[in-house]
Amino acid sequence: MHQFEESIYQLIVETSTNLPGDVRRAVNHGRSLENEATRAGLALTTIARNIKMAEDQVSPICQDTGMPTFIVHTPVGVNQIELKKNIKAAIQRATKEGKLRPNSVDSLTGENTGDNLGAGTPVIHFEQWEKDVIDMRLILKGGGCENKNIQYSLPAELEGLGRAGRDLDGIRKCILHAIYQAQGQGCSAGFLGVGIGGDRTTGYELAKQQLFRQVDDVNPVPELDRLEKYILEAGNQLGIGTMGFGGEVTLLGCKIGAINRLPASFFVSVAYNCWAFRRQGVELDPVSGQIGKWLYPAGTEVPVEQKASEESKSVSGEASKQAAAKQGAREIVLHTPISEEQIRSLRVGDVVIIQGEMHTGRDALHKYLMDHDAPVDLNGAVIYHCGPVMLKDDEGWHVKAAGPTTSIREEPYQGDIIKKFGIRAVIGKGGMGAKTLAALKEHGGVYLNAIGGAAQYYAECFTKVNGADFMEFGIPEAMWHLEVKGFAAIVTMDSHGGSLHEGVEKASLEKLATFKEAVFR
Ligand code: SF4
Repeated sequence: MHQFEESIYQLIVETSTNLPGDVRRAVNHGRSLENEATRAGLALTTIARNIKMAEDQVSPICQDTGMPTFIVHTPVGVNQIELKKNIKAAIQRATKEGKLRPNSVDSLTGENTGDNLGAGTPVIHFEQWEKDVIDMRLILKGGGCENKNIQYSLPAELEGLGRAGRDLDGIRKCILHAIYQAQGQGCSAGFLGVGIGGDRTTGYELAKQQLFRQVDDVNPVPELDRLEKYILEAGNQLGIGTMGFGGEVTLLGCKIGAINRLPASFFVSVAYNCWAFRRQGVELDPVSGQIGKWLYPAGTEVPVEQKASEESKSVSGEASKQAAAKQGAREIVLHTPISEEQIRSLRVGDVVIIQGEMHTGRDALHKYLMDHDAPVDLNGAVIYHCGPVMLKDDEGWHVKAAGPTTSIREEPYQGDIIKKFGIRAVIGKGGMGAKTLAALKEHGGVYLNAIGGAAQYYAECFTKVNGADFMEFGIPEAMWHLEVKGFAAIVTMDSHGGSLHEGVEKASLEKLATFKEAVFR
């Protein structure tokens, strides 16, 4: 069975590090629609560069390698128990080698198992079929976009869209609302998988199954095909844009399926997937375990990287300068610790380049800091919402992948922590709420939006690991003290009450309302 484990390991590595061709084409198409000299254009340039870096370095595209979910079809007679053991062994190995982040956490104790195995992890669905090959598909869907999945029970009243009835028009409204409610928090530009019907469980399963379709396939059901195309066009008109920065490209793909339902139930389930749409599949020989075929052809067509490589290698390169200049903003270099005066001079839209030290902190740290002292002086400090992939060798720890995580989870704590410790800048993605905005104004702080998923791009900015605290929280949740050079991010919430996120949300709600009466037939 060793060859099975090896083949599954290859599947995991390929899925985590190399986006398939259909996804790359969709990203490239999105990039062609966006003006490069805008914040959204800058974000797409960064994304394109990150995709190439991950492929070249065989490292995770995004630090959140998600919940490994396998869909496996086996011929009659294949030992599924043995296959499951091989999947688990391959998962352990991929985690140990830094291709997957340890992501399996005990829901009661908060303890990270450290190897991505545990109750309910990984997810494996087996089906038998009459073909004589094993078809094994894997999706790595991270928490940021998983948290933006949504399920509607029709009829429903939807913000901006009014009544959604039990018909195709009601379904249309649900999907548009799903895009609106996600804003940029699921690392837009995103892909949607939609399940119509079923019960609450099978509806979501159907939605996720849609994500295994090729991005450029054609729905065999004519009305669903038309709806997919309509949603792609209308979704992009909402103006949410890449990372919620506003812009032309909010959605890169939409796939819709339908199954029967109970007369009393009418669910529309939406699975939101970020641009880091990592899914791959293989056909395995049921006897030898050898890979016979890759199911999502590799991304040989990568026109964006040519462009990226021509730009400055520095993250404070030409693209960010152009974006800043075009939108009336500036590019400012900040050295840590940062003074209040420097922070008060920043405005929404400015591009900031951080030099010095920053500290990672996620859910466990924020909860802890509410009632305890910090292990290091945080006066003038930068907190980075990030759960990195880290590897240790004889020379110490190294950052392998380190993009931002969704910041809104820290909203209950962030404002208090900023004031308690004198923090000047918080970096994350997706923005934060009113409580944090008020604290930024009162204390003198900024929220900086980094590009979600650009884990290789940012990992390159970390030149040294100065130390770590709270390793007992697990690697992603520990507080890493990292030396950084040239880390670029955009001010999206400033100390004067300005919030790009509030503005984009308001404008997109107004746009959403224009689709209220656009009856879809
Ligand atoms: S790209 Fe964003 S949403 Fe997707 S896995 Fe990474 S952090 Fe999560």
